[in-house]
Amino acid sequence: MRITELEDVAATLSDKEYELLMRFYEIKIFTGELKLPAEMKDWVRTRFNSVERVERQRIVSVKNRFTGEHSLFNELRAVRPKEGMQKVVQEVEPCRFCNPAEQTPMDSFGRIKGRYCVTASNLTKYDSYHGLVIFNEHNPQVITEDRIADYLRTGERWFESVCKDNGGDMYKFFLWNCLWRSGASIIHGHMQLTASKTRYGKLDVFDRVVSAYSDRYGSDYLSDLCKVHGSLGLMRTSNDDRILFYITPVKEKEIVVVSTAHRSDGMAHTIYKLLRFYRDMGVMSYNLAIFQSGSYHVARLVDRGDLDDRTSDIGAMELYAASVIAYDPFKLAQEFRV
Ligand SMILES: [Zn+2]
Repeated sequence: MRITELEDVAATLSDKEYELLMRFYEIKIFTGELKLPAEMKDWVRTRFNSVERVERQRIVSVKNRFTGEHSLFNELRAVRPKEGMQKVVQEVEPCRFCNPAEQTPMDSFGRIKGRYCVTASNLTKYDSYHGLVIFNEHNPQVITEDRIADYLRTGERWFESVCKDNGGDMYKFFLWNCLWRSGASIIHGHMQLTASKTRYGKLDVFDRVVSAYSDRYGSDYLSDLCKVHGSLGLMRTSNDDRILFYITPVKEKEIVVVSTAHRSDGMAHTIYKLLRFYRDMGVMSYNLAIFQSGSYHVARLVDRGDLDDRTSDIGAMELYAASVIAYDPFKLAQEFRV
């Protein structure tokens, strides 16, 4: 099954499933046409395997009616020259994060030590509490389930200390920018932790969507979102977590996890599996975000492109309009093996 066949998939759903799909998404499939000069045809045939597919391109538009998340898929954009072998980050020079005790600041309440990591205070903060989980291992591509669980557990312990220090509840947001394509300025493996008194703007909008959805339909937004993905074959389960091969990805290969775990380390097994899946696919640079929504923990993971690519993966479309996507979420779901 492919995203270009989304209407065919929708036609096989039960009335109830179809209704829910249509409640969430506006789906449009159309063809963009162009004419190639004769001089270009050989090159196009070599590059894209077919002249016809370029002259009549199938574009799929999927828009979430509640959140406004909107992705434009063009399978042609995925037909690119074969990429090279998986690259390995070989920089093993000792860096500042290799010696966090002397080379990084600490929070006012000190450092939290894990088995495979230690916390630091971020030197240039974007929130009143902004910390780091610095991995003992320099190379961020070294991942094991034990390590992921330890990083998240240490992050949770940091968050507990922050709430105690602040004397009240705060909003938790954990993120992992892995390697430079993702916005990371330091190669050494590290996660970032923020605790905020203010709900971040995008999450505030999301909270309002969830609340309005509940008022209008008497039903749970995230639970129904999972149902829709499940009916399309775009969901897997792992422990208490539901893994969605997201149909409105913010960028390539986005995977969303909806978890009933009380703490983020309860998702460690699933997050490890997804990172291993990414690694097996050759994804080196990614963003991971973990936040709470009501009683859920939500994780979002997205591929940020080839480490050698000089072109940014986001442009004005992504910043101001809609996300342009090459990778088919149906393909992603089919490739996911655990
Ligand atoms: Zn280092």
